[in-house]
Amino acid sequence: MKHIVIVGGSYGGLRALKELAEYPNIRITVIDRHPYHFLQTEGYDLIAGKVPFDQTLIGLRSLCSGFGDHITFLHTTAETLEPEHNRLICEDGQVIAYDYIIIAAGAVTRFFESVEGLKGCSYGVKSLRGAFQIKQFFETELYKRLESAKDAKENYNILIGGAGLSGVEIAAEMQAFFNRYYHSNALACGRLHIHLISADPTILYGLHPNVIDRSTQRLKELGVILHTGSPITKVEESCAYLANEKSIPFDFMIFTGGIMAAPFVQNLPFEHNPIGQVKVDAYLRPHGFENIFIIGDAADLKDPNGNPIPPTAQSAEQSGTNAGQNIVALLKRDTLHPANIKMKGLAIALGEEYAILDTGWFQIYGRPAYWVKKMIEKSYKWPLRRLAQRGFKKLVSCHC
Ligand SMILES: Cc1cc2nc3c(=O)[nH]c(=O)nc-3n(C[C@H](O)[C@H](O)[C@H](O)COP(=O)(O)OP(=O)(O)OC[C@H]3O[C@@H](n4cnc5c(N)ncnc54)[C@H](O)[C@@H]3O)c2cc1C
Repeated sequence: MKHIVIVGGSYGGLRALKELAEYPNIRITVIDRHPYHFLQTEGYDLIAGKVPFDQTLIGLRSLCSGFGDHITFLHTTAETLEPEHNRLICEDGQVIAYDYIIIAAGAVTRFFESVEGLKGCSYGVKSLRGAFQIKQFFETELYKRLESAKDAKENYNILIGGAGLSGVEIAAEMQAFFNRYYHSNALACGRLHIHLISADPTILYGLHPNVIDRSTQRLKELGVILHTGSPITKVEESCAYLANEKSIPFDFMIFTGGIMAAPFVQNLPFEHNPIGQVKVDAYLRPHGFENIFIIGDAADLKDPNGNPIPPTAQSAEQSGTNAGQNIVALLKRDTLHPANIKMKGLAIALGEEYAILDTGWFQIYGRPAYWVKKMIEKSYKWPLRRLAQRGFKKLVSCHC
């Protein structure tokens, strides 16, 4: 029986698992350093307190059990890959032999070392722990304002460094949440100010000009303060300094301005790009290894014309499907198919029930776009939840 290992049970790894799970004659091991799949794409709702935290995760042990009895979940951290010996060594000392391995270990926030103080003074949002800490901080601040007239009068500055998709969504949701809270509780005087900083000339730099314009307008209407065209050069405990010599005092700082491959990926003995993602061929394999597939944010993904593909859940999912299907093809001695990953539009949540949907041909704004975004999220989450429930029942009945 062939043994396939998947490192990382998130958007990419789980799509690969879905393809492979259909074959009960393959043994599959999913490894993740967390016992859950964190739904990063819904992180903005978690931070703004719109959904409880259990709605943004899916238990991996139950989920794997739901996929089938030939799948095992290991809650451990992959540490070293020995590609010449087809072995993976984990943090807890386990040595796992494989026939094929899919590496879907994703990326982490890149706190640029060149920016003094950035790492020590700001929080990332790519992990459940980071998003949860921000949510708790935000709620504590709102609570203090409710209890104390003195606190309610004070201005509070939240600074978000990085105005890409995640920075913009978080800024909009937090500001919209605060505005509603402020009005419904008739809080006096003090305001919570959200400063969104972009090193580029605009927010969402590189997206369609209509998307940039409407998002800018929406953020301004909500009251988010935008600082564009100047990178952060230094951060102190309660003040960030920009290249244009502006300084912005803050009480809490979130950084969403960059990613780099997860440490395990960076240490893989393959060729990497400057942010540690592994360079892969058209079939998502590192040069010289036919039984190793690198997918999602861990890989330096390119479209068929060689242009970089942004690290998104949808590119992770497409690469996962491709890797799963190609492993099946290898086992059947069939022809492999190149990845051919395409961006199928983009949906950006911008506070309350307002979103922007860019289909690539046209854009939709407001509530209709919001409902499309929610449908996309639910159509991803619900089937996984159903499988996890089925798996949980199986696990419980085994223990009884
Ligand atoms: C706030 C926010 C909003 C976003 N919104 C969108 C959006 O609307 N649409 C969109 O398409 N994308 C969005 N993204 C981007 C998207 O979330 C990522 O591109 C996506 O999560 C990448 O999936 P992945 O499977 O490659 O990696 P990840 O989701 O990062 O998962 C990697 C997995 O590997 C595990 N892992 C890491 N190292 C190890 C190790 N050594 N051993 C074992 N396990 C390990 C991790 O625990 C994790 O479960 C958003 C991101 C953020 C932060």
